[in-house]
Amino acid sequence: MNLGKNISAVINRACKSVVRIYTSSSVGAGVIVSNDTLIITNAHVIEGGPRIKVETIGGKILNAFLVVKMRRYDIAFLFIKNSQLGSEVTVIKLPDKISYSVGDTVFAIGHPQGLNHTVNRGIISAVDRKIVSGNFPFKIYGLNWIQTDTPVSRGHSGGPLINEHGEMVGLNTWIANSTDGKGINFSLPSRYFKPWISYLKDYLNPKKRINRLLCPVCGSFSSLERYYCTFCGAKLNFDIRRKELLHKLKRTPLV
Ligand SMILES: [Zn+2]
Repeated sequence: MNLGKNISAVINRACKSVVRIYTSSSVGAGVIVSNDTLIITNAHVIEGGPRIKVETIGGKILNAFLVVKMRRYDIAFLFIKNSQLGSEVTVIKLPDKISYSVGDTVFAIGHPQGLNHTVNRGIISAVDRKIVSGNFPFKIYGLNWIQTDTPVSRGHSGGPLINEHGEMVGLNTWIANSTDGKGINFSLPSRYFKPWISYLKDYLNPKKRINRLLCPVCGSFSSLERYYCTFCGAKLNFDIRRKELLHKLKRTPLV
């Protein structure tokens, strides 16, 4: 097999799941993670205003609806109406199990400086990297990151880090912000957000019954009877917000 050609096909397929996301004052990348059409991005990518637009690889510009934003992980999920999309987009592949290690080749897809769908290559520099000290933003504490030397910049935020099989192993989230920090970049491993994707697919389907609540702050699940998250104490109103969102998407009447 011609490995070079194979990699090109893998990358081209993955590019079709990457979208550009922008608000009035912020821009970044996002990834289509389900066929109905749920998009993952960084929470900081959509901080720039309430109106969120998504641009596909084919240049279609669509309104996106915020489903949930979890600042603890710097993650947001958006939804766009899939009827507006054709075969120009694909759903990203997620790995079935954790199958990466230090030295693996990885690729980042994003839109640095307005250059849409720029693909950069690097390796995994460290796995399960915990940040305990240094000049890093506070939000990162308590998580295990994939460290990579793949060249990324602001426009890669919310975009995928993919392996040679085109599977999204991480979400490109932040870069070491110091003069000697070149080539020190961090992706949130997909094992963190995979459970939320399957949950949110049901959440956006009015025919599905939801039997647990997702905490919009810490991402843990609680039973329907709870008013507050058992893990972090945040107020749980996810079922109420679900009704409002489905109504806005004209998927169900608001009762
Ligand atoms: Zn919580």
